[in-house]
Amino acid sequence: MKINNYNQIKRTLPPEVKLVAVSKFQPVENIMTLYNVGQRCFGENRPLELRDKHVNLPKDIEWHFIGNLQTNKIKYIISYVSLIHSIATSNLMLAVDKEAEKVDRVVDVLIEFHVAREESKHGFSIKEAKQFLASTEFSNMKHIRIVGVMAMASLTSDMDEVRTEFKTIKSYFDELKNLYFADAPWFKKISMGMSHDYTIAVEEGATMVRIGTAIFAD
Ligand SMILES: *Cc1c(COP(=O)(O)O)cnc(C)c1O
Repeated sequence: MKINNYNQIKRTLPPEVKLVAVSKFQPVENIMTLYNVGQRCFGENRPLELRDKHVNLPKDIEWHFIGNLQTNKIKYIISYVSLIHSIATSNLMLAVDKEAEKVDRVVDVLIEFHVAREESKHGFSIKEAKQFLASTEFSNMKHIRIVGVMAMASLTSDMDEVRTEFKTIKSYFDELKNLYFADAPWFKKISMGMSHDYTIAVEEGATMVRIGTAIFAD
């Protein structure tokens, strides 16, 4: 990896936008290289890989989970994870709430939206999200706190399409904020933008970007 890539990205990001360094598949040495220049927030997408890294790395690292989460693997991350970006269904929300209760935590999560063209991507539709947020099932969940939204744009070189999708995500955030979180100052995070599209995401209102390749590739 080249520390220059990291420094360059840090310089171009507005100070209020949080950088999640996506360290999936990266050895602990590379994580330590960034840690030693001050990076504290890392994103992983596999529960067991995250668990092993959490065990072996400094305890002041803020670990974010950004991948597909199977309900039987929540237990490997629930006691220390800082933020789960990728809550793509109400069933997963319920399962995380249950596991968080077992370890006596309230865990911060994001609602993942499906806005991309690819069917393979996961996430709520705006209709599903509203149904969920209005449900008693949700009001009974005492061990999760919804702090914002997350989504991935389509994997395409059509940057107009990508920008349109980021605008959609921002509009979903605004709509949910008005309808359900007007009195909830913690509902303020918009996680969008990856290596190839984060500058557009920031222009469209991202408060958090998730960058892997652009930091770690040689
Ligand atoms: C891998 C991954 C990223 C980072 O992607 P890069 O293109 O390597 O920056 C961001 N978000 C999610 C959900 C990912 O799985």
